[in-house]
Amino acid sequence: MVFADVIVDISVKSLDRPFQYSVPEMLMEDAVIGAQVTIPFGKANRLMKGFIIGLSGTAKYEVSKTKSIVSVEKQGVVMESHLLSLAYWIKERYGSTMNDAIKAVMPVKREIKEKVKRRILPAVSYEEMTVANEAFQKKHNEARVRLLTGLLEAEDYSGGLDYGEALATYHVTAAVVNGLIQKGLILLESERLYRDPVGDRETKRMTPPRLNAEQRSVVESITGRIQSGERGNYYIHGVTGSGKTEVYIRLIENVLGFGKQAIVLIPEIALTFQTVNRFYERFGNQVSVVHSRLSAGERYDQFERAKQGEISIMIGPRSALFTPFMNLGLIIIDEEHENSYQSENPPKYHAREVAIQRGEMLGASVVMGSATPSLEAYYRCEQGEITYFSMPNRATGASLPKVEIVDLREEFAKKNYSIFSEALQQAIDSRLARQEQVMLFLNRRGYAGFVSCRKCGEVIMCDQCSVSMKPHEVRGRVARLKCHYCGAEKQMPTVCPACGSKYIGTFGLGTQQVEELVHKRFPKARVLRMDADTTTGKEGHTRILKAFAEGEADILVGTQMIVKGHDYPNVTLVGVLAADLSLNANDYRGAERTFALLTQAAGRAGRGEKAGAVIFQTYQPEHFCIQTAAKADYTGFYRKEIQNRQILQYPPISHILEVMLSSEKEATAMDMAKKISAQLDAYDEITVLGPVEAPIYRLRGEFRQIIYIKGSDIQMLCGIRSQLEDYYQKNTQKKLCSIFFSLDG
Ligand code: ADP
Ligand code: ZN
Ligand code: ZN
Repeated sequence: MVFADVIVDISVKSLDRPFQYSVPEMLMEDAVIGAQVTIPFGKANRLMKGFIIGLSGTAKYEVSKTKSIVSVEKQGVVMESHLLSLAYWIKERYGSTMNDAIKAVMPVKREIKEKVKRRILPAVSYEEMTVANEAFQKKHNEARVRLLTGLLEAEDYSGGLDYGEALATYHVTAAVVNGLIQKGLILLESERLYRDPVGDRETKRMTPPRLNAEQRSVVESITGRIQSGERGNYYIHGVTGSGKTEVYIRLIENVLGFGKQAIVLIPEIALTFQTVNRFYERFGNQVSVVHSRLSAGERYDQFERAKQGEISIMIGPRSALFTPFMNLGLIIIDEEHENSYQSENPPKYHAREVAIQRGEMLGASVVMGSATPSLEAYYRCEQGEITYFSMPNRATGASLPKVEIVDLREEFAKKNYSIFSEALQQAIDSRLARQEQVMLFLNRRGYAGFVSCRKCGEVIMCDQCSVSMKPHEVRGRVARLKCHYCGAEKQMPTVCPACGSKYIGTFGLGTQQVEELVHKRFPKARVLRMDADTTTGKEGHTRILKAFAEGEADILVGTQMIVKGHDYPNVTLVGVLAADLSLNANDYRGAERTFALLTQAAGRAGRGEKAGAVIFQTYQPEHFCIQTAAKADYTGFYRKEIQNRQILQYPPISHILEVMLSSEKEATAMDMAKKISAQLDAYDEITVLGPVEAPIYRLRGEFRQIIYIKGSDIQMLCGIRSQLEDYYQKNTQKKLCSIFFSLDG
């Protein structure tokens, strides 16, 4: 007899272990490791799906009491065994259930019978959707909440959900969808519009440029090591326009030449279509793209093609990492510093870490690239775990633009209360006169979420955690300030604690407001706006970027979307309206994110033959982040920031284990959080913060408390996690309270 260890397809911690089933004679052939099966489960023998993760000849329990597998899914993919090991690694490292980990690494085919395929797309920004969803929660509109929460948690919010799948997954009816359309929250789009992820791509084959010396040395060095059978992790730290994409392309060519395949991870398709196009131009139909607008079935088809060897290169966001190539040789992670490589749903993995792990399992090399490496990656370069290459010059020979820092406190003193400093106004006027283009960049949308002084630039920070404190409104007025990590509170000050001025408050600025102000101050200029509101629906990004590239507007106003990898030769001025907006985020990555954004924004100017200029407006001109970004001085930034992380024990120096307790009963979540917290007293060498209310305190009708545990030894944190899990299992009545773990750094 053969017995199979089966992981049941439900993500509940208490059932997250293999259950043994016997394999009937007739299913012997199909019941392999990684196969999807149907099994009777529980007392009622309800039929459920599951995955076989192990086979053996000995029964763990009495054979007569062991149930049998009912059927093996022929349609389902059989997981490569190494993907199963990878799932196991993800579960162990990030503390998810095995079931969630398996689902992340393996696409499941689901047949949806539908004549016209449609997608549900958001019609409002993420923030507005969150607010609308919360309102439905209060009214107990559960069906709407299920659907909107699904949309909010999708891998790519603007990519939306497959209509048929969403109905099935969230158990909602067409009437629910129609109701939300009428409310203007979502819209439906038919398949024809989204089938081709890169739109009208050009298939003409361009002659590749001759590599310059810097590029050649990187390509030769990495290729040589791959050829000699050595795998490695590499980082290409190259300024914007240094020719990193060209290097990726050559490396892939070489790897294909060795009979292997490659995966290219990119942050988001819609924003990087120029890059994707270049891969199509060079590799034609050897390339496939998986992206969030594909239904699960279509994604599965692409993965099948990869497995069958019909394609050799897969491009896509983080889930493309699990493409089941037979002989994977190379994984590229472009724009490695991007947030979208961090999964927000369980399992909350980081694509960089999982890529390195998969590479180690298969002997495939990993090549990361960015102009602004994440602190984690650069730290590991310094530790010698990643081989570092630098490409400090632009490939086209163009020079990096000059950056001017404008002190908004001085504007304030000069009684210029507009959002445009004098310097910026003059610069824009001169570009308009010369018929050159301008980008105005608002590095964060809308409400800023911190309190600062317009006279002296002081920001109210948490004394313990060195992050800005978040204002909490009571009846439309900011009453108190709170720290998101440790829960410390302060009164909202009425005067600036540093200079005594009364101009202290939250400072919020939206793109729409900026657009209106641009119209007012520069009435002759043609203005385009690009943000989450203007880009939802049909090919929003592409349309706006194309219009701007073709000179249909003089000024493009937008959020971070406008600074991602696009070439605009006629843009000679980039203005950052309020660099502080992202600098003073309520979490420890504020400076890192700002440095990346400012560097990228600056990189947009002067990509053509005309020289570019950049203006950073800020209330904190002396801040090291602004200073180093202006000089494009990454190492200067890194040195200072890594010191800060050292002092406060933030990643990459330490790791943060986040424990979330969630319950429908407010007191239960709080009570459990306190009990868990008390368990932690037994440990030395860790710092415990909280419990605090989660940034979104109420979600899907549940109250959520978080405890942060900082520690430098990741093994130790994983050990603590298992012990807390045990404690939780023994001390929680079923379903009253759930526990979730995630690991940062
Ligand atoms: P990155 O990915 O680092 O931003 P790209 O690979 O996009 O840089 O290159 C920037 C620009 O320089 C592109 O227009 C590209 O075609 C061009 N380029 C890249 N390598 C070379 C080269 N060796 N010679 C001339 N132009 C090049
Ligand atoms: Zn002040
Ligand atoms: Zn704090």
